[in-house]
Amino acid sequence: MSDASDIRHSNCHSLRIGIAGAGLLGRLLAWKLLLLGHRVSLFDRGSRAGELSAARVAASMLAPYSEVASAERQVFDWGLMALTWWPAQIALLAQQTGQDIHYGVDGSIVVAHDLDKSSLRHFEQCLQAKIPDRADGVERIDRERLRRLEPELAEHYSSALYLVDEGYLDNSALLVALEMAITQLGGQWFEYSEVLELSPGRIVLSGGEQSFDWVVDSRGLGAKSQLPGLRGVRGEVLWVHAPEVNFKRPVRLMHPRYKLYISPRPGNCYVIGATEIESESMQPVTVRSTLELMSALYSVHSGFAEATLLHAFAHCRPAMPDNLPIVNCESGLLTVNGLYRHGYLLSPQLVEKALAMFTEQTENSVAV
Ligand SMILES: Cc1cc2nc3c(=O)[nH]c(=O)nc-3n(C[C@H](O)[C@H](O)[C@H](O)COP(=O)(O)OP(=O)(O)OC[C@H]3O[C@@H](n4cnc5c(N)ncnc54)[C@H](O)[C@@H]3O)c2cc1C
Repeated sequence: MSDASDIRHSNCHSLRIGIAGAGLLGRLLAWKLLLLGHRVSLFDRGSRAGELSAARVAASMLAPYSEVASAERQVFDWGLMALTWWPAQIALLAQQTGQDIHYGVDGSIVVAHDLDKSSLRHFEQCLQAKIPDRADGVERIDRERLRRLEPELAEHYSSALYLVDEGYLDNSALLVALEMAITQLGGQWFEYSEVLELSPGRIVLSGGEQSFDWVVDSRGLGAKSQLPGLRGVRGEVLWVHAPEVNFKRPVRLMHPRYKLYISPRPGNCYVIGATEIESESMQPVTVRSTLELMSALYSVHSGFAEATLLHAFAHCRPAMPDNLPIVNCESGLLTVNGLYRHGYLLSPQLVEKALAMFTEQTENSVAV
């Protein structure tokens, strides 16, 4: 573990920055801005555990190939950066906090049952059409190759797709490590502090108003009243403990009705998801979704029959009309939002872009 002062840059123009929302973007930006030598206060309507954030619920797969099949090419181009950016940040966080964050960047596997093989072929064709220049990242593999990559899948599937440049990370451990890193660097954390309104240099809370040199709006869906076009897209996930299942990589099941994904976590735990519903409902997971997810899960690997259900979470992904993220930086206010279903995949690009814009603006204003 390093002393926090070893890794912080000395900054003679240290600014007072108020951050509204301590989910994924709020934490990442708080950490990076503290490392740059600024003074940061974080306000969230939930606790430090992040229980009200989409970041906490996410499967946190880093899946540029799987996602581009139904997204803009930009998602793929920006997303590739995640595969190298996260390991570097995770190493830095481990050095600072001593926290281990489990992750993998050695590909993912896509399978389909025999009757649904056309779904798998269609998915492969979509990728060939969307990213013809990166088709080498999509390998059609036979049972023998599958056995070497994920032996337990080879019992059930004679072929699969191997998406070489995909990965995942343990979001629970990441959020804890970021919270620790922010606190160690002197970040002020205000839990259960609902931001009622904000504007350049100003955050309004129920107890009154606070002034800053800069304000960052990273409230995710909580920014809806101030960000025209922002909407929520509901998703549901189940967390299971499956001692009889040993997957090393994320696994997807192609299916005509739902595309199931299984994202590994340490200790034979898995995050299972599929649903994407145009609704802003934050109601708990429905019986229908649970049944569909569970039956699809059991069909991938019979070892899931003995799994225990740890959690069932529902949340809404913050999305703009084109489902692409935004970053706006005007004097005194940095707005980042719209990560949709690609928070972990696209935050590396968005955070670096936001920091570059912020640095340019603040250096220009000092020069003036
Ligand atoms: C089911 C599901 C699965 C997902 N799977 C993946 C995946 O596999 N890969 C991937 O890359 N992405 C995934 N995502 C997307 C990812 O979780 C989001 O894109 C990301 O969390 C958005 O980050 P954010 O910081 O903008 O918002 P959030 O993480 O939601 O954080 C916003 C924070 O702001 C706080 N807040 C809101 N309003 C206020 C207010 N008025 N005052 C104070 N605080 C406030 C909230 O409490 C919250 O902590 C998934 C999302 C869901 C829902």
